[in-house]
This record gives sequence, C-alpha cells and structure tokens, in this order.
Amino acid sequence: MLNFELYNPTSLVFGKGQIAKLTTLVPADAKILLLYGGGSIFKNGVYDQVTAALAGFDITEFGGVEPNPHYETLMKAVHIIREKGLNFILAVGGGSVIDGAKFVSAAVKFEGNPIDILQKQIRIVDNVVPFASVLTLPATGSEMNSSSVITIKSTHEKLSFGGRGLFPVFSICDPEVITSLPKRQLQNGVIDAYTHVMEQYLTYPAGAMLQDRFAESILQTLVEVGPGVVDNPSDYTLAANFMWSCTMALNGLIQKGVPTDWVTHMIGHELTALYDIDHARTLAIIGPNLYKVMFETKKEKLAQYGRRVWNIQGDDTDEVAHKAIDATIEFFSKMGMNMQLSSYTTEYAKTADFIEKRFTERGWIAMGERKNITPDKVRQIVELSY
Ligand code: NAP
Ligand code: FE
Repeated sequence: MLNFELYNPTSLVFGKGQIAKLTTLVPADAKILLLYGGGSIFKNGVYDQVTAALAGFDITEFGGVEPNPHYETLMKAVHIIREKGLNFILAVGGGSVIDGAKFVSAAVKFEGNPIDILQKQIRIVDNVVPFASVLTLPATGSEMNSSSVITIKSTHEKLSFGGRGLFPVFSICDPEVITSLPKRQLQNGVIDAYTHVMEQYLTYPAGAMLQDRFAESILQTLVEVGPGVVDNPSDYTLAANFMWSCTMALNGLIQKGVPTDWVTHMIGHELTALYDIDHARTLAIIGPNLYKVMFETKKEKLAQYGRRVWNIQGDDTDEVAHKAIDATIEFFSKMGMNMQLSSYTTEYAKTADFIEKRFTERGWIAMGERKNITPDKVRQIVELSY
C-alpha cells in the first residue's frame, strides 16, 4: 500500500427531508449567494424547500450556471460577491453548479487574474469564500471533494483545478430530489461514478486490499442499482444507494494508498470542450478503449475486476481481462451509452490529431498510473473510438 494522508472536512447530511436543516447548517451571519443552474430547481420544488429553510437570511440569487460551467458566466458571480460583500455561497444543483461554486469561492479573493487558477492549475489552499451544497444530481462526487472542472468558452478548454481549501463546508444529499431527473442524466450519473472508481482502481495491484474491496463494492452496487434507478428513480432504496455510491466513488477514500490513472477523464474533457458531449458519455466512449490500448499494464487488475465484479471464471489472466472489458462495454450499453465518437460528430476524423497535439502542448506527455500514457497512446485511444 502506498503512503497516504486522508483529509475530508465536508459534513455530509444525507436522507429524506434534510434540506430543512439548512436553517441551522448555514452560519447565522451568512450573506448568501445562492448559485443554481438552468432552472430545474424551480420545477422540482428544491428551490422552494431551500428558500423556506432559509427564510430570514440575506440571499442574493445567481442562476444560469451551464452544464460544464463556463468561466465567463462564473466571473459574473465573482463580481456580485465582491460588490455586495457576500460571505457564503450555497450551490443548489448538480456537479456543474457545485464545481462552479468552487471556482467562484477561489476566484473572489484571488490576487491576479482568476483565469490563471485554471490555466496554470493553481492549488487553492486558503483565502476562499466558504461554500456548501444541496446536491440535485448524483454523479460527480463534487459534493464531498475538493476538485472542480471549468470550461473556458473563448478557448474551448475544459480544465480541472482544486486544493484542500475547496471542500464544501457541508453538503445535503436528499435522494428524493432525483425523481425529477431525466433518464439521460440518471444514466450519466451511474457511468460517471462507475468511471471514477475505475480511474482509481483499474491500475495495478498495490497491495491495498481494503481499498480494492471498497472500489469493487461501489462498482457492484452501481451495477446492481443502475438499471433500476434509471427506470424508477422514485424507488427510495435504489435512489439512496445510487446517491451514496456516487459520493463514495470520489470523496477521496478509495484513492488512498493506490496509484490512480485519470486519463479517461482528461481525454473526455477534450471531447466535451470540442463537441459538447455530456461528461459521462465521453467517459463511456474513451474508458474501454483506454483499457484496450493499455491492456498490458492493466491486465492484472482487469482480471481481478473481471473475477470479483463480474464473476468471470477461468485461470487465464488475458482471457478474463478481455472478458472484463467486454462486460464493461455491455453494461455501458445497457445504461444507454453510445460508445462511438462518430455518432456524436461528423468531424471526428481530426479529433485524435487535435487531442494528441493539446496533450503535447500542455506537457501531458507521461500520464496514467505508470506514466506510460504518451500523446501517441492518447491518439490510439481516440482513434479506436471512431
Ligand atoms: P450537471 O451538468 O450539473 O447537470 C446536468 C443537467 O441536469 C442540467 O441540465 C441540470 O439542470 C439537470 N438537473 C440537475 N439536477 C436535476 C434534477 N434534480 N431534476 C431535473 N434536472 C436536473 O450534471 P453533473 O453530471 O452533475 O455534472 C457534470 C459536470 O461535473 C461536468 O462539467 C463534469 O466535468 C464535472 N465533474 C466534476 C467532478 C468533480 O470531482 N468535481 C467529477 C466528475 C465530473 P439545471 O441546470 O437546470 O439545474
Ligand atoms: Fe467525472
């Protein structure tokens, strides 16, 4: 097992009716910026629950945070906080709104041009505006981690940043809020969380036996509840297990003591920046092809995954590992994922070139758990997805 430090100060408030607890969770002297997205919270009653709990608080609303939130939009929220002297941000939404709150939190007091936080990947450790979240879409784990992904519209870049200063103070996760989610977003949530686990698990055996079991149990739970929750999000047991699995997939716990990959996400971000494909769908396009191209370095773990998660029998590592990739693709299809890049864009033929070039320019030339995913490998992975 590798050395590690576990730090996670977010207080997670989970279950039915918990939004009402905002009354006591938000600091009494808070001057709040209420950050939200395109307006789903007005249709599903979440806005009403939040404002009822916060009656009497000083609230300024800022809506219109896009999926794959834009730097340009978030800077408007930064100016409002500075102008009005607000001291607390409450994100009400999915990963995009929560990631947006993290950027705003970091940018308000940032000395210099906040675009550097993204383009120079500045680690944010302090000097932030405290923020919290009411989660409406289980998927990203953003409600209990300190990472964020922001799109710069003007340059077509989607960049991640983070730091120990960017954990939410608290996050409220009420599984009942998912009943209003469209099928497509429920499918996305399952696949995003599944891939988060794969990024931290599907590397090489590092002797982290407990983390492996944690990771496998999250994958198994997502396989068990995924199809059902898409068909029936009002089933509370399915919804609760789905929501908790998504949080656990990326709150830091399973990444401790193990090597991690994250290249599926890095390539996926490029596809979203270029073609506006949903985050999870880019992961479904890229993940299985990455496992194929990097087969030799990942096959031992692929075989463990095949045996433990998919119950694939057999002594031959290569054979079990290949079957494990097939089982993954089958599950992704069952979850409504279309894994062919050519079905999203007619311009796919130049994508591999472009992404290879971007990785090279950014110095991302030795990626993945063994630092052996070179721009040339990235190119092969993208080409396989055509
Ligand atoms: P999202 O972009 O936050 O939301 C997708 C759509 O779902 C929006 O149109 C939103 O509408 C709608 N929606 C949300 N909750 C709803 C509800 N309860 N009922 C009906 N509609 C609802 O989706 P996401 O998958 O959670 O977030 C994706 C972003 O997170 C990407 O930018 C991705 O790169 C990033 N990400 C971050 C991390 C991390 O660790 N921080 C990890 C993985 C991915 P409204 O806009 O109207 O609310
Ligand atoms: Fe993700």
